[in-house]
Amino acid sequence: MTTTDRILRLAKELGADAVGVSRLGPVASDHSRLYEQWINSGKNGKMAYLSRNNALRFHPGDDILPGARSVIIVALSYYPRELQDPQAPRVSKYAYGTDYHTVMRRYLTTLGNLIHRDIEGHAYRAIVDTVPFLERYWAEVAGVGFIGRNHNLIVPGVGSYVFLGELLTTLSLEPTGPSRHYSCGACSRCVENCPTRALTAQGLDARRCISYLTIEHRGPIPEELAERFERRFYGCDTCQDVCPYNHRSTVQRLFPPSDAVLRLTAHDLRCFTRETYDRLTRDSAISRAKCPELKRNAEIFLKNNP
Ligand code: SF4
Ligand code: SF4
Repeated sequence: MTTTDRILRLAKELGADAVGVSRLGPVASDHSRLYEQWINSGKNGKMAYLSRNNALRFHPGDDILPGARSVIIVALSYYPRELQDPQAPRVSKYAYGTDYHTVMRRYLTTLGNLIHRDIEGHAYRAIVDTVPFLERYWAEVAGVGFIGRNHNLIVPGVGSYVFLGELLTTLSLEPTGPSRHYSCGACSRCVENCPTRALTAQGLDARRCISYLTIEHRGPIPEELAERFERRFYGCDTCQDVCPYNHRSTVQRLFPPSDAVLRLTAHDLRCFTRETYDRLTRDSAISRAKCPELKRNAEIFLKNNP
């Protein structure tokens, strides 16, 4: 059994739904060029952090972990066992359970320590949104899945409702990818069903995306977009919900759902207070949006659903 095989087995035993390995090196020039074009077109909205540190983003390695040679990419499914009532103010599925930063970091630290115990010469660094790292690109290179037209990483047999986390390691590991067996083919359901036409041939236009607008964007939302939110209160899953690769998504095992999300009602939004905010955001990734933004989302929901 190779070192890579042992690591893959350990990662699966700890609960990974998919895992892969890639050697580190510069990001392929066609990918970095497209990324820069996307930034230059302004489609990243106000997410300025996406345009900073490109040297690190396109050449990950020693600056993140001295002596880094490989990256282990882990996918954990978050598809909930139980969904919200269809009439409820909709929260994106990734935010149903415990904050993924906490769960993924704990997972990666355990995996890193177990590898360290078993294999000599291993130093590691866990990454969960903490450094500029093109995780979907590296996941594709490692054969974990492919990037679909909806710009999510699709893991065949698991779906796209996955969180990605990475362990950079000083080990020189046998790579597991890429795999070229899967693609979107002729499908374009995500593009056709996007309520705000945020998915374009030139990439996702975050400025029109309901996920960006309800989570990242501060301040008022243009009326002509807000009126298309329907029952969406926090985030949007439409381009994933319609994807055929998600028809039998693997159900999560590591993200127990929050009752505050599962039982959220229009009444809660009508009486939205600081207490409602605290209840919804406790141990939750929903805290990415601040109280004024959730209040704004609540007002939009009530206007769209009188
Ligand atoms: S999350 Fe919603 S608004 Fe954003 S691209 Fe997907 S379908 Fe469109
Ligand atoms: S809905 Fe179709 S086009 Fe969109 S990501 Fe899924 S397979 Fe690809």
